[in-house]
Amino acid sequence: MSRTELIDSYLRRLFPLHRSITGDANRTTLKILQELIPLQILEYSSGESVYDWTIPQEWQIHEAWIKNRQGEKIVDLNNNNLHVVSYSRPVHAFMNLAELKPHLHYLQDQPRAIPYRTSYYQDDWGFCLSYLEYQRYFSDDGPYEVYINAEHFPGSLSIGELLIPGRSTKEILISTYLCHPSMANDNLSGVLTTALMAQTLMQIDLQHSYRVLFVPETIGAIAYCCHHEQQMQQVSVGLVVTTTGGPGAYGYKQSYCREHWLNEMVEAVFLRHKIDFTVYPFDPHGSDERQYSSPAFRIPCVSLCKSKYYEYPEYHTSLDNLKLVKAETIANSLQLYEDLLFLLDQNVVFENLKPYGEVMLSKHDLYPKTGAAFIPDKTGYSELDYILWLLFLCDGTQSLWDIAKRLGVEQHRLFEIAGQLEAKGILKRHV
Ligand code: ZN
Repeated sequence: MSRTELIDSYLRRLFPLHRSITGDANRTTLKILQELIPLQILEYSSGESVYDWTIPQEWQIHEAWIKNRQGEKIVDLNNNNLHVVSYSRPVHAFMNLAELKPHLHYLQDQPRAIPYRTSYYQDDWGFCLSYLEYQRYFSDDGPYEVYINAEHFPGSLSIGELLIPGRSTKEILISTYLCHPSMANDNLSGVLTTALMAQTLMQIDLQHSYRVLFVPETIGAIAYCCHHEQQMQQVSVGLVVTTTGGPGAYGYKQSYCREHWLNEMVEAVFLRHKIDFTVYPFDPHGSDERQYSSPAFRIPCVSLCKSKYYEYPEYHTSLDNLKLVKAETIANSLQLYEDLLFLLDQNVVFENLKPYGEVMLSKHDLYPKTGAAFIPDKTGYSELDYILWLLFLCDGTQSLWDIAKRLGVEQHRLFEIAGQLEAKGILKRHV
């Protein structure tokens, strides 16, 4: 099976699940992802305080519909998971249109779209429908029979976690959110991109360690940070993976830290692929970078997106579906993310262990013997030049990315030669 076919098959399996902030569909999603990667499923109990928040009760929805005067179902959860406001409380009542209307959500400017609405932190209920459905089925005053069979009960909030060890204990965070029901770009695309990135990472010899998380947005990230406060201090940078499969433009949300090299790396990946991209400067709206970059953690995070959340008309509606999102687009975004990870992983700091004056190369069998080692590559540097520059610049303060930028060369080439100097005991890496 090709990667695109694999993505497509998982999109189709995961799309129908009625995920929310908590509940069995989230666990089922994580269990399906366990076919791809060995995720641990963590459960945090309802009612527990996590920083300024409380872990909510579990929500299980069984049935939701509205019937007209003739007893015909005119809105039915069975037809689309978005028809009920997520986390709605139960209701069974007959009401006229004036009473019902505050609980009906539709978009006049997108008459075919069912909006996605949640009521996580308010005790409320509601239905979502397209404006066309509203016009068609709600032309009289009723009464309408309204029924939501849902339960809220003490249970737990589920998080998927995968720790992938590398040579260094310094970590890179990869986080995505799994709380959205039946929408493909936001955020099944992010879920699958994350799972497949983790699968790739598990197959290579890593310089850094990786912490891969699948959390319900906001409360999941907060709960996880609260339970792993020490561990999160080991994280140097983070990727918040979301909306990677839309038909629109590529773009990236920058780190809160404007001058951070993480922003430069993302742009380098786009440039390498000759992709035009939009830059979204950090702002405190958005996804879980809000938690990871908050004052206590200050982890610089980026999100590399294709049709970024907020930015496409189908966002948070039923039109964000499997017609809009193509597996091939997700596969392309995955490739960009993997190129970024390749840069991130090899961005290591080395220190010259013989910093007093110049290293005598021949003594360490480092002076190149073949003529080829003196011939510059396309960046203008010969192998000897790389050795000399690395020995000169590796003072324990500059990373390979800093050096690559300064010289205008590929970080990968520096990484290779630094590895040879490390093997000779002349360079030592900071771990
Ligand atoms: Zn969303």
